[in-house]
Amino acid sequence: MSIAKGYFRAVKDAVSIGANTFQFFTRNPRGGNVKALDEKDLAKAKEHMAEHNFGPLLAHAPYTMNLCSDKANIREFAKNVLKEDIERMKVLPDVRFLFHPGSHVGQGKEQGIAYIVEALNEAVTDDDGPMVLLEGMTGKGSEIGSTFEELAQIIQGVKHSSRMGVLIDTCHLHSAGYDIVNDLDGVLAELDRVIGIKRIGGVHINDNMYDLACHKDRHAKIGEGSIGLDAIAAVVSHPLLSGLPFSLETPNELDGYAAEIKMIREKIGI
Ligand code: FE
Ligand code: FE
Ligand code: ZN
Repeated sequence: MSIAKGYFRAVKDAVSIGANTFQFFTRNPRGGNVKALDEKDLAKAKEHMAEHNFGPLLAHAPYTMNLCSDKANIREFAKNVLKEDIERMKVLPDVRFLFHPGSHVGQGKEQGIAYIVEALNEAVTDDDGPMVLLEGMTGKGSEIGSTFEELAQIIQGVKHSSRMGVLIDTCHLHSAGYDIVNDLDGVLAELDRVIGIKRIGGVHINDNMYDLACHKDRHAKIGEGSIGLDAIAAVVSHPLLSGLPFSLETPNELDGYAAEIKMIREKIGI
């Protein structure tokens, strides 16, 4: 959901498609500056969310934020975005900040993870405030965070790790090689063993345009990819994931999202 026209508009749009949560970019997905906060708009948004029983929201960092770039100025910029945006999200009632861990661009995973941990320790300086989620990735290029082990290693490096968690994206999991179609329980058991199931703070619901372990990041519409509606419905209704914010990132406009929400709800009977 875009917050370009304010939070209230985004809440209304979410309600109009039958949702009680939404994801938004903390700033333009390609980076850039931040608009000043409109207090009146925020108050109306909060009221509307309470009326419609909203759950936690997901605040996505811009894609350009690479905490483990090989260029010091890019790392510095990313670190400042991280710090600023986590701070800015404190004005919303229950919002979870999430970001792509980053790409090490040839420096190696250990160096990349070290940079990410360093930045997180500067941005997450106490145990209060929004949860900070690492999104699990597909492992394309030099992306960090496509295995549970890498995500766990980052979390373990953060001093105030009580605020740290992960966000699972069905397309990314499947592309990374986790077979959520044939063995969802096994994948979640593995996640529990390596990271801890309680660390999951949100879920992205996308079908996968390519096959298991393709290491590509191409989201398909629900039911039109290699994951399929049955497996997506199993994720959404899984007891271990109940109560989490689920967000679609499929190639759609509002009416397409409305149709997908309806289709998933019908499938699982809620
Ligand atoms: Fe993402
Ligand atoms: Fe995602
Ligand atoms: Zn993706």
